[in-house]
Amino acid sequence: MKKKYETIINLGTQERYSISLNKRIRLLNTFCIIWGHLILIFYSIELIIGLVLESINQDAITFQFFDYKAFFSYLLTLSSLVITLFLNKTSKFNGARILFMSAVILSNLLASLIISPGNYLEYYFILLAPISLMLYSNKSTSYLFLLISFLLFLTPYFFYVVYPKDYVDRLLILEILCVFLVIYLVVNYFKESNIKSEKLLSLERDKVLSDKMILEGQEAELRELNEFKSHFFVNLSHEIRTPLTLIQGYTNQLDFKESDKENKQRTVIIKEQCLQMQNIINSIMDLSKMDSNEFQLNSMPVDLNSFLEKHFINFQTLFAKKNIEFTFNNKTLKTTILVDEDLFSKAITNLLSNALKFTPNSGSVAINTFFNNESLTINVIDSGIGINKDESEAIFKRFYQVKNDITKSQGSGIGLAFTKSIISAHQFSIAVESSFGNGTCFTISIPENFVNSTTDSLSKEPIDIIEVNKTNFNEQPNTKLKSNKQKILVVDDHEQMRKYLKKVLHNYEVTEAENGKEALNTLNNNTFDLILTDYMMPVMDGETLVKQLKQQQNKTPILVLTARTDHQGKLSMLRLGIDGYLQKPFMEEELLINIKNSIALYRNIVEFDKDNSPEVLKNINEYADKFNIKITSYINKNLNSPLLTVDSISEYMKVSRSTLNRKVKSLLGQTVNQLIQEARLEKARNLRAEDPFASKKQIAEMVGITNTTYLFDKLKERYGINK
Ligand code: ADP
Repeated sequence: MKKKYETIINLGTQERYSISLNKRIRLLNTFCIIWGHLILIFYSIELIIGLVLESINQDAITFQFFDYKAFFSYLLTLSSLVITLFLNKTSKFNGARILFMSAVILSNLLASLIISPGNYLEYYFILLAPISLMLYSNKSTSYLFLLISFLLFLTPYFFYVVYPKDYVDRLLILEILCVFLVIYLVVNYFKESNIKSEKLLSLERDKVLSDKMILEGQEAELRELNEFKSHFFVNLSHEIRTPLTLIQGYTNQLDFKESDKENKQRTVIIKEQCLQMQNIINSIMDLSKMDSNEFQLNSMPVDLNSFLEKHFINFQTLFAKKNIEFTFNNKTLKTTILVDEDLFSKAITNLLSNALKFTPNSGSVAINTFFNNESLTINVIDSGIGINKDESEAIFKRFYQVKNDITKSQGSGIGLAFTKSIISAHQFSIAVESSFGNGTCFTISIPENFVNSTTDSLSKEPIDIIEVNKTNFNEQPNTKLKSNKQKILVVDDHEQMRKYLKKVLHNYEVTEAENGKEALNTLNNNTFDLILTDYMMPVMDGETLVKQLKQQQNKTPILVLTARTDHQGKLSMLRLGIDGYLQKPFMEEELLINIKNSIALYRNIVEFDKDNSPEVLKNINEYADKFNIKITSYINKNLNSPLLTVDSISEYMKVSRSTLNRKVKSLLGQTVNQLIQEARLEKARNLRAEDPFASKKQIAEMVGITNTTYLFDKLKERYGINK
């Protein structure tokens, strides 16, 4: 019932209307409801009284008391109220309030002049002006109604006279006018103060909302920074661990009895990787320099052509390896620029490294220099993956990386921020022009006061064009040669790492894949004894690869070799059912033993499958499934009881304690206690996710653990859930 009234009261209100308009609409609806009810109640009472009196005074009921005029007047008013509500519902508030005010006037006129004249009903006109105050915001409208109401009040005394003359003569017109005015002014006062407090309230609300938005913004920024930070550290540790593994590996392989040539190759790789690590450490140092703004420029004139040519030559081989057309077009003739050679070199190297990283095989990259409106321009243009327009500002921020397959496993988001700091410290400027999928152009502009050009700077002809033609460096050894060796598929995006693993696994036939996708393609046409995969890789990472293989029911044993050391990563991999998880840097021996064991276990399973009929295998699997279902459902049902122990489970499963442990270990790979603990932690995690406000004690009780601190320590350790 209450709901129905609420619906009627809200008829015609809309969110897009102002608060005060909605309030007026609601008031009008409320007036209609109240007035409608009053009419029904009074008329029913009138009818009942008439009927009772007739039945007492007469023998038969003749409805002599029935007053047609009153009946029609009530009917007219009721219909007007219904139409008013209907008009409101159809969003015609103006029409609705005019109709309502007319109904008030008309019904009161009828009552005071015709239906019940001389009964002082004209005093009801006092209500007209206050009602108009509530329904109209315009002041002059309500003054008009005040005037009309007073004139209407006077009607039965002076215009359509229904009172005796002496009564009319005694009428205190001025006093009554004062009463009209006072009532009007009192209602007006309350209306004004209401409007004032509403304004204050809405100001407060706006302030609270804007504070909330600021807080939300800060929270989002913090969250983003946190994400950036953890992404940065994961990537960084990945980048450091990879060269470290190679250095360790090759150092162990150094054998002074072997030929000089072999050792030389190893030391070259060790040196390269040391350099790589040094670069990484340097970029961290650069980052801290950026923090403290301690760039000390040591600027001196540098010959632009030879400076850029040096970088061009340094990168030639790297671009050629990816079959990328790399060109250097210099249109500036003999020009020197005033720069800190060391720092400026870092900026150019970073732009070229990015071009190399973000341009796919067979693309093109160019360094162009020319004069443009009195400043010298250096462009690094590539035909690579490009950057979305709305991210082109953000890439110069620290830790910012566009989310894509390449940045998933490489980079740290420092490079461009550092480059920009260097360029700004020189008082040069750097800009980027790019769109997603259409390559990228970084432009460094050097103002003329830092440039010294001895020849016609606007020469059209390039004096220096060095070009490297596309060369195919992808000479992979033919891995499809038949041999009796066991076959291993090595999946890693790091070329040196693949080379190193190949050397370590020289007793196996090794096939290489650069990422998960390539591995899946290779696996379509080949079978292997083992798959050794990295975790973080572009295009398709190790986790997705393992998921897909498990979906395809591929039974080949999988070892994951990774630089990721966080629990989360390790656990999500182990949950997928891999055979081993080794962290970089690893010992060669450890890797070889793991591979040997995994292959042997796999062979045993294959042999076992071969020796047993499908019927037997089916029975074994069915038994394992049933056992699994029975024990886990028992554990889940009794999880909240601290009495859930190995003993209670062995009693339920009707086996001895030792048999139970043995069976659980062989079928589920865990001890019974681990199984219980795992189920408790998982339930606690779910409970916490379902109701973040549940108390820790409650959660601990619900999972049958009495020591709350212990539970939350474990949750933190296991899922990283904060206490
Ligand atoms: P990093 O390369 O270590 O990720 P940078 O600060 O050098 O960090 O670059 C920031 C981001 O800008 C990169 O992650 C990448 O998404 C984007 N980016 C930089 N250079 C290029 C380019 N030449 N093509 C496409 N994207 C680029």
